[in-house]
Amino acid sequence: MSVKPLIGITSSYVKHNWYMEGVYVHHDYHKAVIKAGGIPIILPIAPPDVLDHYLNLCDGFILSGGEDIDPQFYKTSPHPKLATFYTERDESELYLANQLLKMNKPVLAICRGMQLMNVATGGTLIQDIPSQVKTAMQHVQTIDRPKEQHEVQIHKQTILHELFNTSTVRVNSLHHQALDTLSRDVRISATAPDGIIEAIEHTKHPFFLGVQWHPESMCQRSDSMNVLFNTLIDRAK
Ligand code: MN
Repeated sequence: MSVKPLIGITSSYVKHNWYMEGVYVHHDYHKAVIKAGGIPIILPIAPPDVLDHYLNLCDGFILSGGEDIDPQFYKTSPHPKLATFYTERDESELYLANQLLKMNKPVLAICRGMQLMNVATGGTLIQDIPSQVKTAMQHVQTIDRPKEQHEVQIHKQTILHELFNTSTVRVNSLHHQALDTLSRDVRISATAPDGIIEAIEHTKHPFFLGVQWHPESMCQRSDSMNVLFNTLIDRAK
């Protein structure tokens, strides 16, 4: 049996009905990790002493998508169009992100995960693109989740450009929030045609990448985003 890296995936909490509530993560995340040769482990929302064990156990991490982030964590009041947030999840993931910045383990931050990465390092968010960015295009797609909605420009001299070796890729888009003030510790690695930030990378950590789209879902339909998961798994070995 070959040794495969363990990839910790953050989760949320969902209440389905009176007798079903608990850990939630979209199954495309663990399917994408398995496809790339990793072993997915779903991480529950937990206190720091428990998260410390996961930080030691796992070889790589995915900060997954989900709810909006409680705006108190970037010192802003809730906008009228702010959607559901879950403060306990934010606390759990902000702790993980801050610890991961001190470790060299690879991290892929997806959608909300990328927004959390910016907030964890001092950046802020646009709480609702349609009402706050008048020139923005549609970022909440009305087609199937794995399908491509819009183009992004990949910036040269970034890890993302090295990985894709091209300046333009088409991505899906399932976000009503976006990065506003950029953290000083990250650089932009991709931008949408309307200027919305679509990917970032940490400038001091060896592999802490954030993408605003959902590569784990695109992976279920095509191979165009495999490189993100393959590289995460390679770096985790
Ligand atoms: Mn988008």
